[in-house]
Amino acid sequence: MLSQLGDEAKLLAGGQSLIPLMKLRFANPQHLIDLNFVGGVSYIKEEAGALRLGAMTRHAEIENSALLAKNPILHDCAAGIADVQVRNRGTIGGSVAEADPSGDWATVLLTQNTEVRCLGLQGERTVPLADFIQDAYTTVLSHDELVTEITVKTPGKGSGGAYLAFKRSAPVYPTASAAVQLNVQGDICTDAAIRLGCVALVPVDAKEAAAALRGQKITDKTISNAMEAASAAADPQPDMRGSADYKRRLVAALVKRAIAVAVRRAKGEAVEVNHIYA
Ligand SMILES: Cc1cc2nc3c(=O)[nH]c(=O)nc-3n(C[C@H](O)[C@H](O)[C@H](O)COP(=O)(O)OP(=O)(O)OC[C@H]3O[C@@H](n4cnc5c(N)ncnc54)[C@H](O)[C@@H]3O)c2cc1C
Repeated sequence: MLSQLGDEAKLLAGGQSLIPLMKLRFANPQHLIDLNFVGGVSYIKEEAGALRLGAMTRHAEIENSALLAKNPILHDCAAGIADVQVRNRGTIGGSVAEADPSGDWATVLLTQNTEVRCLGLQGERTVPLADFIQDAYTTVLSHDELVTEITVKTPGKGSGGAYLAFKRSAPVYPTASAAVQLNVQGDICTDAAIRLGCVALVPVDAKEAAAALRGQKITDKTISNAMEAASAAADPQPDMRGSADYKRRLVAALVKRAIAVAVRRAKGEAVEVNHIYA
């Protein structure tokens, strides 16, 4: 249908981004192709050391899935998206395809080994998420292609992650957010990935912040180095959520808290986290 109807057609998943844009007249598609009538595209499966999430899987289904126990950062993300109404409708496939700079999923999934399965008239292809998102609201999808599945490799033993966002209230996007995934052996961080959300047009790969931890003992000093590097990597825009300087400081504080939880989880502790609300 996408290829038959051409550029004037848009896919409708949970409608939690598209419908508000249509109400504001920022989007005005002539045709909506409703994915809610397609069977077999909403599922969570554990297979070959990875979680496979069908594109139409709702945030709420992910939040409530017992299969997330081995990778709690996914629960941190799903459970913190807006409010129950949005989580009951919004889908992981829609979120990834939308590539909204303020969206939570991409920030978290980019710290994981994540692939996006795409389907079009030319056939199927699997794209690493880092290559899938090209810019704000821009992905590699061609017009007649859709996302069918997101695959997230389950982190091994000794690996722990955490995602924390700061929000002005539940039903709004974060002011800033931080996703951290660490490998820890004894007191040493053997590997690290840190992504920052809402502080640039795409989730920031805070490479220097991760490097400040990699191969180091996790101490106040190394955490402080990572915070400083994260703050420097952020490139936020001032808006009604705060000044650029405020967001830089905020994101550093979120990195600090996320590191603390990630370390505890890497050591096998079950830790629950909640976003921070103003
Ligand atoms: C009040 C409110 C607060 C919100 N707060 C947050 C928040 O805090 N954090 C957050 O991350 N999100 C938030 N959202 C957005 C929400 O997470 C959406 O669910 C998500 O952005 C889009 O998913 P959707 O299924 O609703 O997609 P839709 O709105 O249906 O579609 C979004 C776009 O993706 C395309 N699309 C959808 N599915 C596919 C597919 N399978 N393949 C290819 N293209 C596809 C559509 O054509 C459209 O262009 C909020 C939304 C609202 C209304």
